[in-house]
Amino acid sequence: MRRVLILGGTTEARHLAERLAGRTDLAVTVSLAGRTTAPAAQAAPVRIGGFGGVEGLARYLINERVDALIDATHPYAAIMSANAAAAAATTRVPLLALRRAPWTPLPGDRWIEVADTAAAVEALGEAPRHVFLALGKSEIGIFARAPQHHYLVRSVEPVDPPLAVPHAFYVTGRGPFSEADDRRLLVTHAIDVIVAKNSGGGATYGKIAAARTLGVPVVLLRRPALPEVPTVESFEAAVAWLDHGSVPRGV
Ligand code: NAP
Repeated sequence: MRRVLILGGTTEARHLAERLAGRTDLAVTVSLAGRTTAPAAQAAPVRIGGFGGVEGLARYLINERVDALIDATHPYAAIMSANAAAAAATTRVPLLALRRAPWTPLPGDRWIEVADTAAAVEALGEAPRHVFLALGKSEIGIFARAPQHHYLVRSVEPVDPPLAVPHAFYVTGRGPFSEADDRRLLVTHAIDVIVAKNSGGGATYGKIAAARTLGVPVVLLRRPALPEVPTVESFEAAVAWLDHGSVPRGV
């Protein structure tokens, strides 16, 4: 029986675990960082918490006799992905990255691409605006630098402590979010600019599509640099890699 470790925290990782859970030739474990207090249920056994850097992960791979490592973390989880590449290289455990393709702009999209959240704060400008922050709770604190704006914050977990600005409204939700619901949200809160990540995939695309139809600009954080490792974009392709040992063409 081969042992497979999936670095998770994404819809794709969950789908992959569901697909593999019934297999008698594989023992699958899903690893979560432990950021959310009530993580989505997984079809395979779960371990929670950091490994302790590259060395910790390498030790885990050896001790648990992991035969294949699949990095299915979010495309903005750059530290974990770098650690996975380094630990796989030192232990010679085969590694595959499962990463969503980024969204690409369509006619009508008004994207302002920026390097990071500090640049996103700058991009909002001086004049007060109604800003939809579609970022993780740990990423929004920096927007206190621009207290003149009204903020609508949507995150998986409640934001605690709240953003240190006079006007902030909070909604929680894990998604998927439909275009119709997100259009309603943008209209209800008179949103005139969105700050988001280029997460890719369908679950959080609703706001991007809604922004297009409403003519609302989107300040989009660029994707971080990720290690160059064999990569697929679908969980079906990850299953094929496990079964055939190579990245299939055209999947
Ligand atoms: P990160 O900055 O790349 O990683 C920071 C540290 O968190 C890592 O060094 C590692 O600690 C630990 N870690 C991260 N992912 C882990 C995992 N799957 N299992 C065990 N430990 C993990 O990661 P992040 O951006 O904070 O993301 C954390 C988790 O949330 C990931 O599972 C990711 O898939 C999910 N997520 C992230 C985003 C996002 O926008 N970043 C969005 C949705 C979901 P050690 O060094 O101690 O091993």
